[in-house]
Amino acid sequence: MILKIITEPHLLLREKANPIKNPLDSEIQKFIPDLIKTMNHDEGIGIAAPQVGKLIQLVVINTKDEPLVLINPKIVSKSIWKEIREEGCLSIPGVFGMVKRHKKVKVEALNDKGKKVTIKGEGLLARVLQHEIDHINGILFIDKLIKKTKDKEHGDKVL
Ligand code: ZN
Repeated sequence: MILKIITEPHLLLREKANPIKNPLDSEIQKFIPDLIKTMNHDEGIGIAAPQVGKLIQLVVINTKDEPLVLINPKIVSKSIWKEIREEGCLSIPGVFGMVKRHKKVKVEALNDKGKKVTIKGEGLLARVLQHEIDHINGILFIDKLIKKTKDKEHGDKVL
């Protein structure tokens, strides 16, 4: 089932999501494929559960292979080096802008089977991990914008 993505300024996007106690819970197991379908339907690189109005610490990320499912993800280390790249968000349609993020991050989480996993991300993956983990903390990329590059209200690039 494709879920409805909530958009800014929906208040649920600003709430902190709750940790998942039991990843094998049937409701969670049913929700994960729905969240993946929703991400793919809207051609997102990643999506966090709060973006469909569910305040749980669950993130899915598209990769070349299987989608990454991360439950209760935490950044455990990050590079000093940062880089600035353009970002957008399924919950803020039409808005894009430059955001500074750590170049590399290491994330610990549980996978969809409840097993502990460590993900080392660099470049785009590091960026998506930081963006999605921000979502479960009620933070949006527009909070970190260095400058807007595109806004649907204006239509054009406003670089
Ligand atoms: Zn987003």
